[in-house]
Amino acid sequence: MSVRPSRLRALETARQCASLGARQRTIAYLTGLAPAYILRSVYSKEHPAPIGRPSYCEEFYFRAGTRVQAAASLFASRYRTLTDEGFLPADALIAAFRHLRSTCPSTPFSFDEAFFLIANLDGIWASSSRTLALTRCPACGRDYLVPESSAHTHRPDGCPVCRADWAGRAGSHASAAPLAHAAEPVELTLPVDKDITRAKLLRTLEALAAGPKVAAVLSEDPRAAMFRAAPNRTSVTTAFLTRPLALHLWSVNTHVTDRVQFAVFALWYRHAQQVGVPRAEAMCAAVTKMRTACRGFGNLVKFDRCFEVAALLDGAWGIETPRLELRSCEKCGSQYLLSLNEVRPSPCPFCALVRRHRVLLPAALEPEPTS
Ligand SMILES: [Zn+2]
Ligand SMILES: [Zn+2]
Repeated sequence: MSVRPSRLRALETARQCASLGARQRTIAYLTGLAPAYILRSVYSKEHPAPIGRPSYCEEFYFRAGTRVQAAASLFASRYRTLTDEGFLPADALIAAFRHLRSTCPSTPFSFDEAFFLIANLDGIWASSSRTLALTRCPACGRDYLVPESSAHTHRPDGCPVCRADWAGRAGSHASAAPLAHAAEPVELTLPVDKDITRAKLLRTLEALAAGPKVAAVLSEDPRAAMFRAAPNRTSVTTAFLTRPLALHLWSVNTHVTDRVQFAVFALWYRHAQQVGVPRAEAMCAAVTKMRTACRGFGNLVKFDRCFEVAALLDGAWGIETPRLELRSCEKCGSQYLLSLNEVRPSPCPFCALVRRHRVLLPAALEPEPTS
């Protein structure tokens, strides 16, 4: 049920690679995801997988013109800076390629070619050994790519950055192609986005200590459709909980501080829904808000109980009609929950909390009003 952080990372990396034009095989190398999954979930009708095998060509760099070599060298040295700063190779590759694309409108090589350059530079992914190296140019002070075997020999005219015409002419940087700023590409919607959202939701649910069955229902796990209510229970929802809330005695049986927590939760839950947050995310946001607001309370209500309250409030997840309602207290103006099954409900829990403090604390100990 739980999502390993590495899985979420792999999905997010796959998404970024696809939006940069990566082929299936490149994504598989970078993420370890199954090729069939990538084909099915990473690309879409609007953004199909690029056709053909990726051009993993050893000679690509050496056959390229000076400008392409210069751009590739700048890209590779940016990659190196990022890995030296502690970025993981896949993240550094994506960031360096993004940078190249943002400064160079007609990117001179594809993401797959960039991937293969880095594979050969570090001897990783599709390459079993280092065949390229970076060496510093004494003239311009930039790093450029050379064959690993000749990395330490002196090459007088070797630096493509010096030789590229856009770098050589003084004052021409801004107008020259590789340094002009291109507009950020429009964000794509890909099928993998759904899996990313779901993986994030599952991690949040885990952090909030949601039970496995409630997590399955909220994340729309297909297994949840098979959950059934116990024979003596009327609704499916309560099948997930050990003991359903006794609605006919709800306010009497529920501790005042628990009722306060449920009220705070319900209010945030409603608010999140009103601004368009989907139910499952609204639940997580409201529980987080409630726990922050009530952190001083000795006993914090469980996530699964909040799920039950939300189901009873909405008439959702197996509850046919709403059984709990948010009401405004006439005395203090606070919103609190009322069970529709209760004949003689206890009054507002916020008022009860204040009353309890008045009884427990002598007036002399209460702080003076400041104004
Ligand atoms: Zn140079
Ligand atoms: Zn009140």
